[in-house]
Amino acid sequence: MSSPFEINEQSLRLGLTIGSCRAPEDGRDSGVLFQRLESALYNAKRLGRNHSLRFRPALDKQDNPQLALVSDLRAALVSGDQLELYFQTQHHPGTGELTGMEALLRWQHPRDGMISPGEFIPLAERHGLMAELGSWVIEKACAQQAHWANNDMPTLTMWVNISALQLFHGDLETQLATCLSRYRLTPAHIGLELTESVLLDERAGDMGPRLKALRNQGFAIAIDDFGTGYSSLGYLKRLPVDKIKLDRAFIRELPGDKADAAIVKAVLSMAKGLGLDVIAEGVETKEQCDFLVNAGCHIVQGFYFARPMPAQELERRLLPKAQASQAHTGDMAKAGP
Ligand code: C2E
Ligand code: MG
Ligand code: MG
Repeated sequence: MSSPFEINEQSLRLGLTIGSCRAPEDGRDSGVLFQRLESALYNAKRLGRNHSLRFRPALDKQDNPQLALVSDLRAALVSGDQLELYFQTQHHPGTGELTGMEALLRWQHPRDGMISPGEFIPLAERHGLMAELGSWVIEKACAQQAHWANNDMPTLTMWVNISALQLFHGDLETQLATCLSRYRLTPAHIGLELTESVLLDERAGDMGPRLKALRNQGFAIAIDDFGTGYSSLGYLKRLPVDKIKLDRAFIRELPGDKADAAIVKAVLSMAKGLGLDVIAEGVETKEQCDFLVNAGCHIVQGFYFARPMPAQELERRLLPKAQASQAHTGDMAKAGP
């Protein structure tokens, strides 16, 4: 495998890393065998690629907290009851009016307590669990929207984070369509958040046509963590998106930091020119809100208005208001910090 080969007069080499295990010595159950295979392969890669490593018990999960977590996550996906979606509302910074919400995944580990998605999502991506985890999120998000639609909650777009791996390995389009029809929802119920790195990841091929198709179906698309990934702005012109989510790195030091203030204003004016909405992430203070109102930003998300919370808590906050506003004015619910 390692001999070079020629394509278009270029000499290319393949790398090959092998992890192996053997039945019945290493186990008889296919679940155990796959886990040991994975642990051998993972360690072969970790120890410097291009070689072969047979499973040995020392590589097993007891000695590798990460692998233990992967196997716990796999179990959590099967049982389903350790995973939960939290919801963080989005607001108009001046009036507090509700404009939407983001679904954020939570994992309540039976022994270690709450584990942050920042920790387990990269792990799921690395170990081939992301397509399944992403499907779980879409299914739950749709089920929750359907439940709320039947229970007088204000109708808001629920934004769902989509990992690159769901685009490469999963059939996102079919899955979305199936879930919407199962729960009798419209695409306006679900928005898709993709990070810049996903949009530009070459493994996904040209994202343009796929995004266009999703948008034609009626899904809104947002670029998450805008400004942290790539400096190329060309893709904003090329890719059909609706909204930019300005990363909280640019919001944190507002209004004091001159550079951040200039960047935020520039992004807002560029987005206006391109006909894109902007939402500011990580808004924590009144001063930040005031700055954003003056700069012309119409949507914010952050601890100042609400932290991510379980579905029941959101219902407790919104239902009386929703019923009251529907009964009296027909307005969207208003919510303050
Ligand atoms: P994100 O999509 O950019 O989500 C926003 C993160 O900022 C959330 O962290 C949220 O709790 C946090 N946040 C919101 N407001 C504030 C604020 O005012 N101050 C501060 N300091 N933080 C704030 P969380 O829930 O820990 O999620 C982290 C990341 O994990 C998300 O970043 C997203 O990239 C990823 N993630 C979460 N759920 C999912 C999911 O279902 N699928 C995928 N693929 N990724 C997910
Ligand atoms: Mg997000
Ligand atoms: Mg973000």
